[in-house]
Amino acid sequence: MSPDWRHLTVASVPPVAIVATALALAHGSASLPAVAGLFPLVCHVVLVAGIMLSLIFRRGREFSNLLVILLAYEGLRLYVWQPGAVVERADLYAWIALLAPANVMLNEALLERGLLNRHGLRRAALLLLQLGLVAWLVSAPPVALTPWLYYAFYSFGFLGHTSLPQPALVMTLVCLASLVIFHFAFPSLLQGAALAATLSLILALHYASQPLLSSSFFLLAASAIGVALIAHSYILAYTDELTGLPSRRAMRQEFMSLGSQYSIALLDIDRFKKLNDSFGHDVGDQVLRLLSVHLRRVSGGKAYRYGGEEFAIVFPGKDRKFAVTEAEVLREQIGKAEFRLRGKDRPKEKPAPGTKRSPARGLDITVSIGVAERSERQHTPQDVLRAADRALYRAKAKGRNRVVV
Ligand code: GH3
Ligand code: MG
Ligand code: MG
Repeated sequence: MSPDWRHLTVASVPPVAIVATALALAHGSASLPAVAGLFPLVCHVVLVAGIMLSLIFRRGREFSNLLVILLAYEGLRLYVWQPGAVVERADLYAWIALLAPANVMLNEALLERGLLNRHGLRRAALLLLQLGLVAWLVSAPPVALTPWLYYAFYSFGFLGHTSLPQPALVMTLVCLASLVIFHFAFPSLLQGAALAATLSLILALHYASQPLLSSSFFLLAASAIGVALIAHSYILAYTDELTGLPSRRAMRQEFMSLGSQYSIALLDIDRFKKLNDSFGHDVGDQVLRLLSVHLRRVSGGKAYRYGGEEFAIVFPGKDRKFAVTEAEVLREQIGKAEFRLRGKDRPKEKPAPGTKRSPARGLDITVSIGVAERSERQHTPQDVLRAADRALYRAKAKGRNRVVV
């Protein structure tokens, strides 16, 4: 979907923050107790902000995951960390450790189908049901459940290093493995955030005997999802969904940072309407995707989907001679390339009656390109873009499949 660096930077926030938090708190400074009282407030602000964002963006998964984190945090804060609470605290801790990661895994396994509908209600109802059940089991247990919740499958020494009961530990490993598999199967920023949040959640539960450290990891879990929600919407707004290229909006942003020298090339596919009519809109879409692969490779310039089957390439700091040379290379490459639709690139839907199922051999695609550079007469990027558009028009008039300045 989006360029890799953005995934990387956003994805690196939670691990970096996890390490920094662990280091800072493990070697705790003297001033820490003073800020400790602020933790519940900060946790609540971040959790509520995240929940509001997921409501605005109608994301069922993130909403439910944040609710799970909130419930787990409140369970520990109000009952396990409060000395006088009238619940079986060891049991409550074990339930939270067992159910919290399991619910995140379940949320990620269910398809994203929005929030304010029956699918969202079902998710919420399932959580409330568990909440009611656990509340009943820890306040008035019908039978002693502690031996089951703390059942020891093995007695390996290293298991003594964590306060997590073994059934919860097994559940944790299953959840982590599933989330890693989900992430590799459907890599996305939000899936990555769910994985990072689960890791933080597990650490929060592991360190449950140290409320300050534990709270930090809860905060981190909530932040991972909150940051990813914002970054995800940013990427959606600035990336073209079909080709994965940056959108026209991203180009306008780039315009702001252009200096006094730059060139712009505007590219339009030749006779694209005919291709759509002959082979169907889906084949047209696949051609746009394949074309974007070539556009990404242009050196010295950055390609944007300008709209429809038109693309713009911005060459910062380059004159028109450079831009024309690159545009020529691109035009030739596209002209020579065979656009083969196979495997997952084949259209899934049946083409409309009267259209051919798919081209028998690779499609021959040609493009026309108009180039313009910044000058005294064309002062703003919009002026240069208009000049490139006029050049493109001339390229079409001269017979297409050419670059015109
Ligand atoms: P010309 O050589 O003069 O450019 O001829 P053309 O047929 O390509 O004309 P024009 O550039 O006006 O055609 C635009 C066509 O591109 C119209 C529309 O059907 C098609 N198109 C625009 N956006 C998309 C898209 O996202 N997917 C598909 N499949 N087709 C698109
Ligand atoms: Mg066009
Ligand atoms: Mg065209």
